[in-house]
Amino acid sequence: MKKNLSCLLFILWFCSIQGQKKDFSYSPNNVDSIENYLNKVTNNKILSFEIKQQKRVKEILLERKTHFLKSIKDSTFIFDEKIHTYLNKILAEIYHSNPQIQTQDFYFLINKSLIPNAACYGNGIYTVNLGMFNLIKTDDEMAYIICHELSHHILKHNDKSLENYIKTFSSKDVKQQINTASNKKYGRRSAITSLLKDLKFNFMKRSRIAETQADSLGYILFNKTKYNKHASVDILKKLDLSDEMIFNNPTNLTTHFSFEQYPFKESWIEKEDKIFNLSESANDLQIDKDSIKTHPDIPLRIEKLNRNNIIVASNSNTNEIESIQKRTYENSIQIFSDDLKLDFTLYQLLSLHEKGLLDDKKYINEVANLLKKLYDLKEKHLFGKYISPLNSFSEENSINEIRLFLNNLELKNIKKIGYYFCKKNELLSKNDPEFQDSYNFFKNLNQN
Ligand SMILES: [Zn+2]
Repeated sequence: MKKNLSCLLFILWFCSIQGQKKDFSYSPNNVDSIENYLNKVTNNKILSFEIKQQKRVKEILLERKTHFLKSIKDSTFIFDEKIHTYLNKILAEIYHSNPQIQTQDFYFLINKSLIPNAACYGNGIYTVNLGMFNLIKTDDEMAYIICHELSHHILKHNDKSLENYIKTFSSKDVKQQINTASNKKYGRRSAITSLLKDLKFNFMKRSRIAETQADSLGYILFNKTKYNKHASVDILKKLDLSDEMIFNNPTNLTTHFSFEQYPFKESWIEKEDKIFNLSESANDLQIDKDSIKTHPDIPLRIEKLNRNNIIVASNSNTNEIESIQKRTYENSIQIFSDDLKLDFTLYQLLSLHEKGLLDDKKYINEVANLLKKLYDLKEKHLFGKYISPLNSFSEENSINEIRLFLNNLELKNIKKIGYYFCKKNELLSKNDPEFQDSYNFFKNLNQN
């Protein structure tokens, strides 16, 4: 009997581990090798500067390296073999068509952010956000994005802006201005802030030129590959549109949580004054959007590309993109859920299911699990730590409706919603231990 019990416990434990199994990990297989790599590329970069600049460059680059290692440890990146393999295939084609590029120290990381963006760090490190895999429709578009980023590296844009930064901050004139601003008795903070803003603006102007240069060289690299050349313009147009709502798919929230025995109550999505967020600075969705604008002046860039090149469309390469996007969606649900951002998790679950991009079983298991987590957070009074209130300054209506819903629900509501949701879907998921776990949780709550 005792043996059977421990055997059963082992099976339960094993199932729960299996249930949590992710398609990706937040840390690389070998952290040491990344650390060695970072040390190597940072030292090489420092030595590539003139001796008189090296002291200051060293300070900045070592600080950046520490920051980078910390961000790896803080789960900023995901390591997913399937997505990396996909990316590597595109890289191999670009490198093969452009053998002049020195690629031996290149390293691509995938940032878990859903904002469509990519970046070049100038030392061989590149990042591509998960959101970029969502935005592209073809391999060709990803190939152009990569060619653009490789061009920033080849044109040494990072080194140049670092040099400019050092020059500006060590120039007598700027030192004088900072000193004057610091010595002001009143309004010191605002004086320094506006001075730094001016400096930042000057960098911005330079970086706009850099963007156009990276487009030009990027197109030359891209033109040598087998990819559809028109993808260059197509992806730029898409990046321009991404300035609009990010979370703009329908969720049909009410239909998902209305049951015969427990219909949806309009009061669950009614606005109440107390949960309004009245400070504009707390617009967390706005911060996300601003970071998209790192590639400014897109209409102008498209015009320039078209003016300088004869861009002919050919067949697109789309063999794998569908399965990569499915993987991206599933990963994004997992990422939001791991961070206990239940508002974004629920948005992804409902909108993807509405679009037919998430199979029923996954949808049922994840929603049941989310309701269980929601109950736990509310019961332990931790809800406000992870889920923001309604944001009255944001036009992200779907997210706001979900936030209202999650905020308004009381324990007694979640208890019933969880139970009826599981009951309605029990036939489809009955053999799934994770689903059973959630169902049992709600069954127990509803006993008393
Ligand atoms: Zn760029």
